[in-house]
Amino acid sequence: MNIEARKKALRFLFAPIVDKLGYKFNPEEEDADFLLEQEAGLERQCGIPYCPCQARTKDRAENMKIVCPCIPFHRAHFDAMKRCWCGLFVHKDVLDPSKLKQLPPDKFYGKNVH
Ligand code: SF4
Repeated sequence: MNIEARKKALRFLFAPIVDKLGYKFNPEEEDADFLLEQEAGLERQCGIPYCPCQARTKDRAENMKIVCPCIPFHRAHFDAMKRCWCGLFVHKDVLDPSKLKQLPPDKFYGKNVH
């Protein structure tokens, strides 16, 4: 499958999943498209649509936590930012994603010891 077709397929697959989690695709089409393209490329390379913005390790179980959409594994952190780490998804009520700030995990979890 070519990258354009796979981007469309990923949109189709992800939309209902993130909808149930209270998220939607970033309304900034160019940003969403760019991220989906990175993801489709990673999927072609590794067989799995890994996050384009989070580093993989040698630990397979840890890597499963960054398969898109990874929202359930980082729920509190992403909810606090109203966006996922990459910004491919934002809370449904977000109209202007450019106003959302990325909060590094160490800062978030440092304040919210679990
Ligand atoms: S941070 Fe966003 S784009 Fe990256 S895997 Fe998680 S949900 Fe997908």
